[in-house]
Amino acid sequence: DSIRVSEFAEKIKRPATEILKKLLLMGVMVTINQEISFEVAEKIAEQYNILLEKETKQEREEELINDFEDKEEDLRPRPPVVTVMGHVDHGKTSLLDAIRHSRVVETEAGGITQHIGAYTVDINDKKIVFLDTPGHEAFTAMRARGAQVTDIAVLVVAADDGVMPQTIEAINHAKAANVPIIVAINKIDKSGVNPDRVKQELTEYGLIPEDWGGDTICVPVSAKTKQGIDTLLEMILLVAEMQELKANPNRPAKGTIIEAKLDKGRGPVATVIVQKGTLKVGDSIIAGTAYGKVRALIDDKGKKVKSAGPSMPVEILGLSEVPNAGDILYVVSDEKTARQISEIRKEKEKQKYFASSSKITLQDLYSQIKEGKVKELNIIVKADVQGSVEALKQALEKLSNDEVRVRVIHGGVGAITETDVTLASASNAIIIGFNVRPNSMAMQLAEREKVEIKTYRIIYEAIDDIQAAMKGMLEPEY
Ligand code: GDP
Repeated sequence: DSIRVSEFAEKIKRPATEILKKLLLMGVMVTINQEISFEVAEKIAEQYNILLEKETKQEREEELINDFEDKEEDLRPRPPVVTVMGHVDHGKTSLLDAIRHSRVVETEAGGITQHIGAYTVDINDKKIVFLDTPGHEAFTAMRARGAQVTDIAVLVVAADDGVMPQTIEAINHAKAANVPIIVAINKIDKSGVNPDRVKQELTEYGLIPEDWGGDTICVPVSAKTKQGIDTLLEMILLVAEMQELKANPNRPAKGTIIEAKLDKGRGPVATVIVQKGTLKVGDSIIAGTAYGKVRALIDDKGKKVKSAGPSMPVEILGLSEVPNAGDILYVVSDEKTARQISEIRKEKEKQKYFASSSKITLQDLYSQIKEGKVKELNIIVKADVQGSVEALKQALEKLSNDEVRVRVIHGGVGAITETDVTLASASNAIIIGFNVRPNSMAMQLAEREKVEIKTYRIIYEAIDDIQAAMKGMLEPEY
């Protein structure tokens, strides 16, 4: 809990030199770039009749990022960002390739070889951006992280196969995200296929084709012969226009990381889709805990560019580490600010780790296993005699299954003590007592550290409880 003198001066709107003088009078010798404790800052603020309040990490982070809503009059049309979804083998990859080649060959000599996670195509004077990772899994994984980049979903349904399980999943995922769906009925080059059969099947899932009185655009295409590709692109632009996709290009950029990797020669490389503003070479950026200054921007044609506006995908060089797909990228005032945000986030992560690691209980064990948060159930066993310790240890460890390993990390004879609780807290363990109880100090500490202690008088009851907890079938405690 400390603050840099310069920041403190800014916050209370007084000259830093004046504050340094007051600090000196208090016997605190610091420079403008050094930090003072909250208590010292409070005393200085008192002299100005200002009441200081501690800022939470969250507040500090938001202040440093300084995101804001744009005014309506600053918004300009932006290209749509499209994700291709559909059942396996229905032609998602082929369609993405067909679109890429149908448009690029004419304009770029040699075509494009760069795979940066997304590419743009030009139709007359308009652009469409396609995400290169097809499927609703990636789409929903990003959403789970709070990022939504897709404006339109192209649902690929093979005319010779029709609506299949993953088609239905894709429909539901797109619907859950409120993303409009355009259906591409693919493989119409195949003999004997009937697009109407696909349309009929789609109606069962709430997608009523336009020519049948609904509002779902269906385009028959062939990724193989390229038939219908141009119509599909036009329809995407049409839907984009109806959505009135807009963003303010004249502000510090905000975007979403869609791909990132560590490149041997170039260091951390991340592809961002800019969502607001314009990202420029030299900008100071933060994405997750990765920060830095944009050293270079590379577009989907492999060309170095100086800037990237709304909806544009670009590769960024210059980050301190590899961010995660789904991380939000912000441009901030300077690199120091970016680093500060990174530090705050790293601290927050640590706290989260401690908070969750001290909270394992038998009641929520099952849900934690299901969420993949727990792969090991650590247990401490205390009993009145050594024979019971051994019997419990063996029986409990035998409960291990594919999802979770049961591990007795400590076993001993005697009452449950503070030391047991400390070990449990540090190792995210629960404590089982057989014919023994915790002493009062241990009980208090367990409460503070949120360590669960269960005591039993019959061995098989202990084993039943753990087994039930692993299956999510533990009787609730009232
Ligand atoms: P994905 O799993 O959805 O990405 O499907 P792919 O793009 O890998 O395609 C699966 C198979 O269908 C491949 O053998 C493609 O060559 C074939 N395929 C894709 N589109 C067409 C098409 O329009 N016509 C025909 N005849 N075959 C296609």
